[in-house]
Amino acid sequence: MPNNECIMCGSDTHPVLKNKVLSIKHDNKMHEVSINDLPTTACPTCGSSFASPEYDYIVRDALRTHLELLTPAEIVSLRKELDLSAKQLAGHTKIATETISRIENNKCVQSKSTDDHLRKTFDMLKSKQSISSIVSQYPKANQYCQSTVHTSEIASNTSDFTDYEAVESQYALAA
Ligand SMILES: [Zn+2]
Repeated sequence: MPNNECIMCGSDTHPVLKNKVLSIKHDNKMHEVSINDLPTTACPTCGSSFASPEYDYIVRDALRTHLELLTPAEIVSLRKELDLSAKQLAGHTKIATETISRIENNKCVQSKSTDDHLRKTFDMLKSKQSISSIVSQYPKANQYCQSTVHTSEIASNTSDFTDYEAVESQYALAA
């Protein structure tokens, strides 16, 4: 079917940008999402109006913005920052590779819980990455252990000192 022919009456159609408020069901809840400049195709002969091919993608983008979810571009960039393939991210998150690729290609909108899970996984992997980069700057692992022991010695001295103060103040009360 040619893009510019009305499927109802066969007349020529023309593109129209519309401002709409859509009621969208997501995560078992209804959301009112207002979208400006939605691309549609209108037939002046029979009055029909059709969604353009980009319509669904634009609606999903607007829904994600409305729900403050990660965008496909953000997910791809976080994944690449960690040098992970979609399959590796699937392994870390236990989300199917197919689902990750549908989200990244804006074919579906992730649920809030999937979004939280992705954010937490990215945060966890990022901190793992920065810890291992810090540790790699200290080649002598012993040095790191020694300083830990030293810290606990100071802590136990401090608690002795506190006991002594307590005894002294008891004495002061008695006197
Ligand atoms: Zn028509």
